[in-house]
Amino acid sequence: MSLIELKVPDIGGHENVDIIAVDIKVGDSVAVEDTLITLETDKATMDVPAEVAGVIKEVRVKVGDKISEGGVIAVVEAATAAAEAPKAEAAAPAPTTPAPQAAVAPQAANFSGNADAEYDVVVLGGGPGGYSAAFAAADQGLKAAIVERYATLGGVCLNVGCIPSKALLHNAAVVDEVKHLAANGIKYPEPEIDIDLLRGYKDKVIAKMTGGLAGMAKARKVDIIRGNGQFVGANHLQVALTQGNGSEESGEQKTIAFKNAIIAAGSRVLHLPFIPQDPRIVDSTGALELKFVPEKMLIIGGGIIGLEMGTVYSTLGARLDVVEMMDGLMQGADRDMVKIWQKMNEHRFDNIMLNTKTVAVEARDDGIYVTFEGSKAPAEPVRYDMVLVAAGRAPNGKLIGAENAGVAVSERGFIEVDKQMRTNVPHIYAIGDIVGQPMLAHKAVHEGHVAAENCAGHKAYFDARVIPGVAYTDPEVAWVGVTEEQAKRDGINITKSVFPWAASGRAVANGRSEGATKLIFDAASGQIIGGAIVGTNAGDMIGEICLAIEMGCDAEDIGRTIHPHPTLGESIGMAAEVAMGVCTDLPPQRKK
Ligand code: FAD
Repeated sequence: MSLIELKVPDIGGHENVDIIAVDIKVGDSVAVEDTLITLETDKATMDVPAEVAGVIKEVRVKVGDKISEGGVIAVVEAATAAAEAPKAEAAAPAPTTPAPQAAVAPQAANFSGNADAEYDVVVLGGGPGGYSAAFAAADQGLKAAIVERYATLGGVCLNVGCIPSKALLHNAAVVDEVKHLAANGIKYPEPEIDIDLLRGYKDKVIAKMTGGLAGMAKARKVDIIRGNGQFVGANHLQVALTQGNGSEESGEQKTIAFKNAIIAAGSRVLHLPFIPQDPRIVDSTGALELKFVPEKMLIIGGGIIGLEMGTVYSTLGARLDVVEMMDGLMQGADRDMVKIWQKMNEHRFDNIMLNTKTVAVEARDDGIYVTFEGSKAPAEPVRYDMVLVAAGRAPNGKLIGAENAGVAVSERGFIEVDKQMRTNVPHIYAIGDIVGQPMLAHKAVHEGHVAAENCAGHKAYFDARVIPGVAYTDPEVAWVGVTEEQAKRDGINITKSVFPWAASGRAVANGRSEGATKLIFDAASGQIIGGAIVGTNAGDMIGEICLAIEMGCDAEDIGRTIHPHPTLGESIGMAAEVAMGVCTDLPPQRKK
């Protein structure tokens, strides 16, 4: 018998989720898959099942607590593998670690048909993870192909995500910047916004980037097979060829044989079942189409995607409401940084409804009527001209015939991988959004490179210490590594230093001194383990903190590095000087 902590598994990136039911007590016997607790997010309630069978020895949570991925729910005295296993398997060695959760390995299908082509590596999905993996495999000398249903490479990020949103955000930021100039004596008339031209600009940006990718694929001799791919065996993929601008199937099929496959099929928008179909109700893709600028817009979900799109629409003239079930916007980012962003953005919002959820949405002729429930819920349904549903994304693991290849997919559609990005089938890898949070392009690319190197026979591992997050709002909010909230929650002993941009010559000269740069150090070792920046261009600067964490730097390493003056980036050096007690750009500090 051994004591094992039962922890919260991947819950789609949600943090500090409410526990609304606890189904176990000390002394209970639980079987694998028995519900331990029930969580409620702004999207849904979800049961957290036991991954290990045994007797509950300690319950560490109660109703009303908040919990995140990795949080300990209970301690169980596990039944041994021998006791659990059916008789015929009794001789099998006891596992040393609890069995992997939900995902059960299926038996691969036996495919005996002929293949139209054969590759060393076939990548399913041409998003940032997929094309990076295929290009890297080709650079290693492997014969590689990408199977992608749409006409262009780039996936969500390039076509309906990172890049189009930034093209619009850039224009919005310039409009806002020009307004600030009035206070400095430079006045422009109110901007005239031609929404068709603006949309055209965004589309041109996408076309330039996707065109570039097509050229790079050609230069590397990476074949692009356009169609919907489905595994039909452990070494075969069947592709229903597609045509036109979307993913309409032409009726033709191709069968592709592969030595290695990399699954990079990404994620899709999560649809809430109670929300009707109506052109005034959009997801992020619909919002990027920029069909009209509403007078009054509701954002359901106060995460990065919703707030970025909200920034664009607000600058174009919309008044915003946002509803978020958690107690703060931009969950995951440092609260002190978000507070600064929120103060600067108050003017965009009529109502920020925290601790509140959307319970009904009705499309009427004169608008979309939304009913809320929770501490900030208006008593009556509220009318909106547009509703943006930005309630998260779901992985595509269950839509690719993974079971035919013997690849295990979790109940929610994620594919579990090891540090080499291998699935349970050793020659099939998975990368990007489909393997879990954070769902970010830079994580997908990094994972793609690791998978490609392994396909080429090298021993590569995903061992990044940290993955940064950025909200490209105005001001931007960027964070990496341990946050103060996480340190508190996980009992990590930290010290922190903050450099306020009010003391940065460059920020003051730019008329944008509201920002701040924060560094977080491990109290015992002095090494930097986290950092956050709020301010203009924060996303461009967070890379230095990522590097410092990866290199195990302490405050002196950063503070004694000469940063160019006057730059916003020198705020990182100065925050490190604050940690050392030697910052001469602030009032005197007590020397440390
Ligand atoms: P995807 O980009 O989802 O690509 C998967 C590809 O696989 C798609 O092209 C799809 O068509 C194809 N595919 C799927 N199934 C099949 C099949 N069966 N057959 C053929 N093809 C298939 N991330 C950031 O890092 N920074 C940002 O600023 C940022 N902004 C975002 C803004 C928005 C509005 C959105 C929605 C997302 C944003 N993201 C951002 C997230 C980012 O887009 C994703 O993390 C990233 O695209 C994931 O890459 P991927 O390669 O895993 O998959």
